[in-house]
Amino acid sequence: ERGGTFFATSLPDLDKVLHGGIPTATMTEIAGPAGCGKTQFSMTLSVLATLPVEDGGLGGGVVYIDTEGAFSAKRLLEIAQTRLPQQFQDDSSLKELASQVHIVSVQSCKNLMNRLQSIEEDLIQKKIKLMVLDSVASLVRKEYSNVQGGMMRRTDFLASEAALLKYIAETFSIPVIVTNQITTRYGQRAPVSSPHTPDDGDGSVEVDGEGSYLTAALGNTWSHSVNTRLILQYLAGDRRQILVAKSPVAPFTCFDFIITKKGVEQ
Ligand code: ATP
Ligand code: MG
Repeated sequence: ERGGTFFATSLPDLDKVLHGGIPTATMTEIAGPAGCGKTQFSMTLSVLATLPVEDGGLGGGVVYIDTEGAFSAKRLLEIAQTRLPQQFQDDSSLKELASQVHIVSVQSCKNLMNRLQSIEEDLIQKKIKLMVLDSVASLVRKEYSNVQGGMMRRTDFLASEAALLKYIAETFSIPVIVTNQITTRYGQRAPVSSPHTPDDGDGSVEVDGEGSYLTAALGNTWSHSVNTRLILQYLAGDRRQILVAKSPVAPFTCFDFIITKKGVEQ
């Protein structure tokens, strides 16, 4: 049994439709164009995960695997300081919070697989309750593009990577969150109602008959490994939208959100 527990994102409408939040023991993808908020969302969730369970957190540590050097300790603290209740605001609590978010920098696919294969001990010792991989896409795109047989090798790599991530999620009963940058042929600020765009397996997204983004990229093998897929998207001005594009519990839905000092907010 999958545990059936959920990790609240603090976006009330999203949590409601997801029956409480991001499911534990499975893999959730946060996809979207550059700068749309995938890293901000992941850092917000990292802050929340360290909170005690009775305060809506997961009461444990976070492993944040950073492939792009995108994680910012300063930003993590800003989110914590502006978002968390008073009792978590003293210096020692904030220090404690920061020390619970473990950054793992990886520079290559091989490096990533080695780290994942030997991470179990760490997950136990550091009482890890959330794992983030930001991003799943950058390394494979870099290493398998424009090489002989690259697409096939990439598919193989993604299959082993997905199997390992799912194993970790299930074994430790924790949410595993992966970010994935996607682009559309209509540019970074494609409207939700773009015409049909086929999935070319590398960066474009599919749009269904109603004009909504449903399938993120990296090909079918990867796509099917993901249990829950959230797609971020630009709207006019500062507003952004989050789409529940795949979920075992929720229908296709979308909500507005913004990025502020507090991280992501409804
Ligand atoms: P990429 O695909 O390039 O990794 P991303 O989806 O991870 O992009 P983020 O880095 O999460 O994008 O989001 C960057 C955006 O977050 C910036 O454009 C900025 O608008 C917003 N942002 C970052 N910090 C703050 C802040 N303190 N207050 C308000 N908005 C912020
Ligand atoms: Mg990012």
